[in-house]
Amino acid sequence: MTVQPIRLFGDPVLRTPADPVVDFDAELRKLVADLTDTMREQNGAGLAAPQLGVGLRVFTFDVDDVLGHLVNPVLEFPDSEEQDGPEGCLSIPGLYFDTKRRLNVVAKGFTAFGDPVQIVGTGLMARCVQHETDHLDGVLFLDRLDAEGRKEAMKAIRQADWYDASAPPTVKLSPHLSDPFGLGR
Ligand SMILES: [Zn+2]
Repeated sequence: MTVQPIRLFGDPVLRTPADPVVDFDAELRKLVADLTDTMREQNGAGLAAPQLGVGLRVFTFDVDDVLGHLVNPVLEFPDSEEQDGPEGCLSIPGLYFDTKRRLNVVAKGFTAFGDPVQIVGTGLMARCVQHETDHLDGVLFLDRLDAEGRKEAMKAIRQADWYDASAPPTVKLSPHLSDPFGLGR
């Protein structure tokens, strides 16, 4: 069990959809232990495997004294009620923005031993489960903000002391521009 470094915003692994877990083995249980230790050390409410650079559909949570994990989660929403409130992310440290989420969620998945398990969450637990499942799809909570909120968030991120401007989020040049800067002409 080891505390691992957390990947920060700008790292492409946070934008890569994770693969379903196939082998419920000792390696998976070590991953869950690492996620748990790292999450608790950072006082986080949740942590997803891609945040440790591992592309597997696993996350841990620690909400209202309920500590646990979920493998291969599938979310169901029992109603259409919403909540709005501050949300943060250990990969975007120190910044919180009001984010709309569903109020109630049922998350079905498996334990690290392959046993089926279900989490019925409301409020903060529901928010956490949605946030962490988003991570497994390469989605960050910034993506859930409206255009104005996202602009404000990006400004705050660029000013954050942890933000590495020399390694900005991937910029894709058009494949049709073989010499985009015109240097070879
Ligand atoms: Zn997060």
